[in-house]
Amino acid sequence: MKSPIMPTYGRQDIAFVKGEGSWLIDSKGDRYLDALSGIAVMVLGHSNPAITRAIMEQSTELIHTSNLYKIPNQEKLAEQLQAISGMDNMFFANSGAEANECAIKIARLHGHKRKIENPVIVVADSAFHGRTLATLTATGNRKVHAGFEPLVDGFVRVPFNDIEAIKNVAKNNKSVVAIFVEPVQGEGGIRIPNVHYLKELRNICDQKDWLLMLDEIQTGYGRTGAFFSYQNYDVIPDIATLAKGLGNGVPIGVCLAKGKASELMQPGNHGSTFGGNPLVCRVASAVLDEIERQNLSERAGQLGLRMKKVFEDRIGSLNIVREIRGIGLMFGIELNEPCSHLVEKALEKKLLINVTAGNVIRLLPPLTITDAEADQICELVSQLIEGR
Ligand SMILES: *Cc1c(COP(=O)(O)O)cnc(C)c1O
Repeated sequence: MKSPIMPTYGRQDIAFVKGEGSWLIDSKGDRYLDALSGIAVMVLGHSNPAITRAIMEQSTELIHTSNLYKIPNQEKLAEQLQAISGMDNMFFANSGAEANECAIKIARLHGHKRKIENPVIVVADSAFHGRTLATLTATGNRKVHAGFEPLVDGFVRVPFNDIEAIKNVAKNNKSVVAIFVEPVQGEGGIRIPNVHYLKELRNICDQKDWLLMLDEIQTGYGRTGAFFSYQNYDVIPDIATLAKGLGNGVPIGVCLAKGKASELMQPGNHGSTFGGNPLVCRVASAVLDEIERQNLSERAGQLGLRMKKVFEDRIGSLNIVREIRGIGLMFGIELNEPCSHLVEKALEKKLLINVTAGNVIRLLPPLTITDAEADQICELVSQLIEGR
């Protein structure tokens, strides 16, 4: 029989019916250690009691009213995010791609205000920004583009982590209005730029009156050791986007803006029916409270360093291992050969991992993992690579 689901994903033949902290339980009752957390979403782990309580309480009071009315939960969440981020205001959407669409639209408003007729945004090779037409165009992966041409105008692509390439664009293209990058490339294979990269981007943007727009959708919520990974580099962007981990599984996206970028959107320019509704904002506020209460940013930074060292000592010298990259609880172990089959091998060991960019084992565990669970992830992943 044909599936009623469009076959956009190649799925594993496994269905989970329950989650507890860092563990997922399948329909047969087998327990799996979750080193992927629903692709960087379940930062507080599964069935976190504070989140369950927020969902239950808010759902008995009010779920949705639309943005035609004031939404106190949205204002509260915005004030919390404003305090954490150093940004001035924000727009609430329902996903990462939508948060990025808002960023792209603000960049174009910025360009038109500067009387640039065809504003251009600089994006990076092997970037990932989403699957809507504009965000898939911004994405630097031909497989994501294929079949969906014509792509959207107004993007130029440069190699990631290459300041000279951007200086060249600055010299030759007078229509540029913004740079849009991930501070650490996630889908691209956990690619961590030079420590000066963001600062240098900031300087170029200041000189050229371009917006610095950072996609923090995979790197935010404390994962890299600071709530926003730009905070590791002492840089403040003009725009930052969030989604994945912010709702711990409840769909929410945010586009935050600062200074001149925060003054461009006017009534009627943009909108979302669901965006920032009372339920998701209540939950996201609870997520922020828990990240702060449990000091999870610092925890991610420290535990990440320890896990990286374990990987380096255990598998760093194997011929098959090309590079071990990690910042906080975000790891990419690049092998010298394609390794997608390791996802199934890991399932046999009751471990959930991901392989991205063909040959990079990607680990994005919940920030609430225990020391023992972290050790178990290191042990199982090392066994996988040794026994591949
Ligand atoms: C996942 C992701 C997106 C897209 O988010 P969706 O919620 O799937 O639209 C965009 N940018 C980055 C860096 C991501 O990791």
